[in-house]
Amino acid sequence: MTGEAVIVDHGRLRAAAARILAAAGAAPADAAAVADHLVEANLAGHDSHGVGMIPQYVRAIRSGALDPRAHAAIEDRGGAVLAADGRRGFGQVVAREAIAAAVPRARALGVALLALRNASHVGRVGAYAEQAAAAGLASVHFVNVVGHAPLAAPFGGRDARLGTNPVCIAVPRAGRPPLLLDMATSAVALGKARVAMNRGERMANGLLLDGAGQPTTDPGVMWREPRGALLPLGLHKGYGLALACELLAGALGGGGTISTVPREPDRIGNNMLSLLLDPARLPGAGGLEAEVEAALAHVKASPPADPARPVLVAGEPEEMARATRRTTGIAIERATWEELRAAAASVGTELAGG
Ligand code: NAD
Repeated sequence: MTGEAVIVDHGRLRAAAARILAAAGAAPADAAAVADHLVEANLAGHDSHGVGMIPQYVRAIRSGALDPRAHAAIEDRGGAVLAADGRRGFGQVVAREAIAAAVPRARALGVALLALRNASHVGRVGAYAEQAAAAGLASVHFVNVVGHAPLAAPFGGRDARLGTNPVCIAVPRAGRPPLLLDMATSAVALGKARVAMNRGERMANGLLLDGAGQPTTDPGVMWREPRGALLPLGLHKGYGLALACELLAGALGGGGTISTVPREPDRIGNNMLSLLLDPARLPGAGGLEAEVEAALAHVKASPPADPARPVLVAGEPEEMARATRRTTGIAIERATWEELRAAAASVGTELAGG
């Protein structure tokens, strides 16, 4: 059981996270950038991709799976196409560098295609879509996970064969955060299963298989041997998207697929294929703002099935979580806080307070 949560102000959490990452070997600017990304994930409500990742990152640095000093090597492949070798660096550092290189290309040509390979865990993919949207660009991102044990079953299969391979799509809106669909292609993220397990709760039907390939509601199957599997989002459709991530990000992007990249202790490798589009170059540009707002207002006007829960569009839950957590602070489960404390101690620093 987790015990009570520790409530931490986001500014204090950023400083604590950056201190641990710097003590683990990151340059101060990179430590701050990774800390910001992780705390922003917590603020957005995605605790599975927040500061709770730091103990895993520290272990990965120690085992050589993650190089805390690496930066992206950008390769110009001609025309609209860029590639980037993440050199096992922090995904949050190398993916940001790669997107920053692709933005001017998309501005110049109307479109840019970026293949990032060999990054360590890039974290919340929506961060890169937000980076492109801040430059006025729409974007589509496909990510596969390599070097790590598979977690998600193919539709109709009995065991895990794929990562939780996220897909992300963003469309900028005038004066507002973008429409931001950012999702794992498994029915549920592994972090959500961990939270349920720590709370001693069962999960809903249709999310998990046990180690024998039978449906279960016990999230603990993901941490026992033989390991269970997360089921794909939306049956065969999520499975199809997950496999598309393998082929687009892994095979076409050159970083490899889960079937070929060797597993290593503590490694979470990500490859990401990103398409950046300049809306100003497309025929819809003239009436874009009105058309986007009309489409979103149209769906949001549907009478809510539960009167207490109005219809939302993708990105709104994250905005609502941010608005709350910026003022109330971020609740870190006691177990996660203690893991952070141990990670800090392992690199010779302290997690102040708590
Ligand atoms: P989720 O299920 O919480 O949300 C998925 C999407 O649905 C979001 O765009 C959200 O805005 C939208 N949404 C949620 N509730 C909604 C509602 N009521 N109405 C309309 N839209 C709604 O997210 P997830 O699938 O658990 O993924 C969490 C994060 O994990 C993402 O940021 C993803 O990028 C990240 N991730 C990363 C990796 C990696 O290897 N780096 C792997 C898997 C997932």
